[in-house]
Amino acid sequence: MTTQIYESAVVETQEFGSDKITRQKMVMCIHCGMHFLEPRDGFFFCDSCVGPVCGSKNCREKCVHLEQWMENLEAGRPEDYKPSRIFVPFNYGIR
Ligand SMILES: [Zn+2]
Ligand SMILES: [Zn+2]
Repeated sequence: MTTQIYESAVVETQEFGSDKITRQKMVMCIHCGMHFLEPRDGFFFCDSCVGPVCGSKNCREKCVHLEQWMENLEAGRPEDYKPSRIFVPFNYGIR
């Protein structure tokens, strides 16, 4: 499985008095939408949707995307509500 990480921005840092420029990508947490610098030792992936997540406990344990979370707030549902989805084969029951 491959996951495409869309970089939100690139941060260039130049040390004072030096020509050395370091480039670091910024990544968006797929759950809470927070932007963070891509850690050099890799970042967390969601076990459920395999998207990049920030290190916060809530984002690592619950797979609720930003859009779903906002829908939940609008509908007055619990913040971690997620509709259950059942996949049925297209030709199920047809002989
Ligand atoms: Zn997050
Ligand atoms: Zn997830």
